[in-house]
This record gives sequence, C-alpha cells and structure tokens, in this order.
Amino acid sequence: MAHFACIELGGTKINLAAGSGPDDMSAVVRLPTLDPASTLAAMVEQLRHLAGEGGFDAIGVASFGPIALTPGTSAYGHFRQTPKPGWSGADLLGPIRDAFPQTPIALDTDVNGAALGEARWGGAVGLDSFAYVTVGTGIGVGLVCNGRPVHGLLHPEAGHIRVRRQPDDSYAGHCPFHGDCLEGLACGPAIQARTGKAGETLAADDPVWSLTGRYLAELFHSLILIASPQRILVGGGIGLNPAVLTAARDAAHSGLGGYIEALEDRSTFDEFIQPAHLGDRAGVMGALALAQGASHEHRAP
Ligand code: ZN
Repeated sequence: MAHFACIELGGTKINLAAGSGPDDMSAVVRLPTLDPASTLAAMVEQLRHLAGEGGFDAIGVASFGPIALTPGTSAYGHFRQTPKPGWSGADLLGPIRDAFPQTPIALDTDVNGAALGEARWGGAVGLDSFAYVTVGTGIGVGLVCNGRPVHGLLHPEAGHIRVRRQPDDSYAGHCPFHGDCLEGLACGPAIQARTGKAGETLAADDPVWSLTGRYLAELFHSLILIASPQRILVGGGIGLNPAVLTAARDAAHSGLGGYIEALEDRSTFDEFIQPAHLGDRAGVMGALALAQGASHEHRAP
C-alpha cells in the first residue's frame, strides 16, 4: 500500500499526517509554527518518525504563502515577502528535500491544495474550473482552471484585491501591505479590530457579519467575471458563518445585475456558492492530493 506524507503548513500551526488515502490517515501530528529554523527542524524530525523503515512514496506540502512555485528556479519552495515575522525568504522545501532526497515532493499553496482536495473528495468533484475561498485569519483563494491550480508569476493572491468601500464603513483596514484591501477589511483580525471582540464571542446577528459578507461579495463578483468558475466553495471560520454567507450571496447576486444569465435564478446562485465540504480536513486532504499527484507523475514515463 502506498504511504504518503501530508504537510499542511499554516501560519499558526502545522498538521502532519501519513497514510495511504483519505480514510487511512492514521498519524496526525500538530506542531506550532514558530521561527523557520526550529519549526522546520521539528517538522522534519516528525516526518522521519512517520516515514518509518519504508519511507514515503511521495510528500505533499500545502503551505501558507506567498511562496515561489516554479520548479527549477532558485527561489522554488522559498517564501516571498510575508507579514509573518522571520519567514520572508525562508526555504521550506530545502530541509524536506535534504531529509528525503529520493522522494517526489509536490508543493502548492494551502488554498490551492484545499481546492484540489475538494476536487477529488469534496464539493468540486467533476468540475474543471472552480474557486475555493477561505476566510479566517486571512483570506485565501485557490483557483482551479481547466483542472489545474493557477500558477503564474507566483500564484493568485485574490484575498488582497481592492474592493469598493461600503458607505457605512470608516475602518482603515488591517493589511500591512494595502491597508483596506479585501483581507484588510474582512479577515478575522479586522473583525476583532472593528468590534473590539473576538469573532467567536460576537452575536449571530452582529452587523459586522453582514458587512463582512458584503465585502466578500466583491470577491465573488470579480472571481465570477474574471475566472468564470463553475462553482465557488467557501471555507474558514468566518466564511462558514451563516450570516456572512447569506449576506455575501445576497450582495453578489444583486451586484451582478442579471449579467450572467446562468446565475440569474436565485436558487441556482445559492447552489453555485456553497460551503466547502471538507471542513477542517481540507488542508491535509489537499496535501494528500498533492502527494498522490507527485507519486503519479513520478511513476509516469
Ligand atoms: Zn492586502
């Protein structure tokens, strides 16, 4: 039986799992994301332990970004400028490759990985083109077009698009790079800064949820018009909040103004924007999808 390593590297924690498939992820190890040197050393040590005698058939890495994704370039597998202290320029892939030099490794962003997981086992089975949007501490978008996650100069960072400011909103924004980009206005820390409370403690009908949903609708509007996805899946603690999702669907549907005929019917539109199916397993399942892909490519002539 194949033995895959799955690494979900998040901004606050790392999930490691090993197994043969989605129903056989026996070992799950959680580590805190601290400074790069100690974090990556601890991760490699755990991987060696999970590998056992037989090693891995492939390793899938789904990481927070921005991270360079073009194989064969010197920057491949290194973080780009990130607000996370100490991580700009850090080499994620090097220590894994050094520990497992013979093992195929696939790397993508956590959101592209989650999108691939949804395509294989979740809410996007059978779709060629769709978007996975997660709204939590940050806002990330995994975009799959024609069956492949979009890579280019880097990878899409659609959480940082500019959005129209809501008329009742004077909050300056949280993003250290752009101030009032979408993430700056609608991520978890922005909600906390606006209300002075952690999201979990806010009432279900707090007006901040509707405001957040209306900002999210701006992203949906742009995604629909730019990438023409067949579905948008929404995850993350804030994205899955029913008040946010309802407000986002309302505003996105009315904002399109009937321009996309296929989405004009309201119940069709509500089907089009769905909660992600894999929940908090999305990251590890995404890494598994990456590992399986790497193993397949390695075996192909
Ligand atoms: Zn930004």
